[in-house]
Amino acid sequence: MNSGTGGATDKPIEITMVASEMFPFAKSGGLGDVIGALPPALGRMGHQVCVYLPAYRAVLNEYDPGSPAQVADVFAEARYEIFSLEHEGVSVRLVGADDLFDRAGFYGDARGAFPDNAERFARFARGALSHMERERAHPSIIHCHDWQSALVPPLLKYRRTGDEKWSGVSTVFTIHNLAYQGRFHPDDFAHTCLPDEAMGLDGLEFHGDLNFMKGGILFSDVFSTVSERYAQEMLTEEQGEGLEGVVVFRKDALFGIMNGIDDAVWNPESDPHIPARFSSARPEAKAACKAALQKELGLDLDAEGPLCVVVSRLAHQKGIDLILETMDELMGLGVSLAVLGTGEEDLEQGLAEAASAHPGRVAFAPAYDEALSHRMYAGGDVLLMPSRYEPSGLNQLYAMRYGALPYVRRVGGLADSVISSPTPEADSDTGFHFDAFEPADFLTGMERICRVFLEQGLWRMMMRNAMEKDSGWDGVAPRYVELYEKAMRPQPR
Ligand code: ADP
Repeated sequence: MNSGTGGATDKPIEITMVASEMFPFAKSGGLGDVIGALPPALGRMGHQVCVYLPAYRAVLNEYDPGSPAQVADVFAEARYEIFSLEHEGVSVRLVGADDLFDRAGFYGDARGAFPDNAERFARFARGALSHMERERAHPSIIHCHDWQSALVPPLLKYRRTGDEKWSGVSTVFTIHNLAYQGRFHPDDFAHTCLPDEAMGLDGLEFHGDLNFMKGGILFSDVFSTVSERYAQEMLTEEQGEGLEGVVVFRKDALFGIMNGIDDAVWNPESDPHIPARFSSARPEAKAACKAALQKELGLDLDAEGPLCVVVSRLAHQKGIDLILETMDELMGLGVSLAVLGTGEEDLEQGLAEAASAHPGRVAFAPAYDEALSHRMYAGGDVLLMPSRYEPSGLNQLYAMRYGALPYVRRVGGLADSVISSPTPEADSDTGFHFDAFEPADFLTGMERICRVFLEQGLWRMMMRNAMEKDSGWDGVAPRYVELYEKAMRPQPR
């Protein structure tokens, strides 16, 4: 992996992002937050940024972007409707493709993933490039994110040979989660409109299937992921999700940049979603937020131990099963637990059972609720994040900003962003770590947390450290500019 990105210059760069989520328009996880905040931060640095997003039904209904431009596909016989919006100085283009995005859900519904996702996101990539070509908009950088926009680099590679206007356009591909690869039946290759040779071993073919993410890795000029530690982990068999060989092959073009947070949206001093405002200098009102959250969720107000919160997709990755497995011991330690999240049925069921087995001590809100998530971070003493793997993680950054100390497994972005020294706690600590994904290890850390919680001076010092940690995007965006500059220079292959 590459460790440095070189020096940034002040010259404005024309950057176009292609992504499947962008807060506040469409968000299901961290990707949405990143695309909502990184483009405006680049804009504040003087760069010109535009974002392409699918024209999901919910976005069209809520934001009413007016009448669309009609655009013909430059790769095949198809048409698009391109709508326009603005977000914090960034132009947003919504790609409508027949009825492919005009449905409830981004990637699937209660029955699972949409069966035509290969066609949907192949059309999204083709539609975005077709619109750029029609507008004669050839930015210096096209920055794509995850499998949903991973066809852009291969499409562009072949387009460059036929159309020299594209030859000055460089591509960056960012992996937010290597486990979601966009893997489909080989017959779906027809939707990509790529030449047959692109379906070879050194192309999008993967164990006989079509793999969008592999195309993004192989055909981009540089690629990145969302923490330095995860960039290292992606090279290994344990965390490489089967693509480690491909990642290793291109490791000289791989960079890791830890995510930031939008500190205007996530600010306990001005947050409209929380019942009382507080700061690191005046943290007193956090107690009122805690009491309000306990009341809202039906938790006992007089619990002695820390209030632990979880805000998460309920997916295997997030390690929620470790919390369920140790529930009795956690109760024995005197902690309370509040969980906000939706996802896998067995986890939802386990949490609902725990809540009814421990009334007043365990609460489960099976919902996706942006405003409640703010109240959870504001009211919680501890955020639990026992992830099996975590490319970056944003929740721990939000929790720190709101004075909830993160208790995380030492992996990926969690290891990079939460400072925890061996006992006794050092002056710089912002949270707690554990290593092995084992009940005993998890509980040992929890016991330590309960002890430190009783030492008020130490707890307050850690809260202050966590709240004062600067994780804003304005500090992170210059690293992406360095990455773009790297992409604009020829890379080893
Ligand atoms: P991932 O992208 O893997 O889901 P991240 O930690 O990077 O994990 O980002 C998760 C984002 O989704 C955070 O902004 C978090 O607050 C939000 N989130 C997750 N679950 C919920 C929920 N049930 N309600 C509201 N927000 C949620």
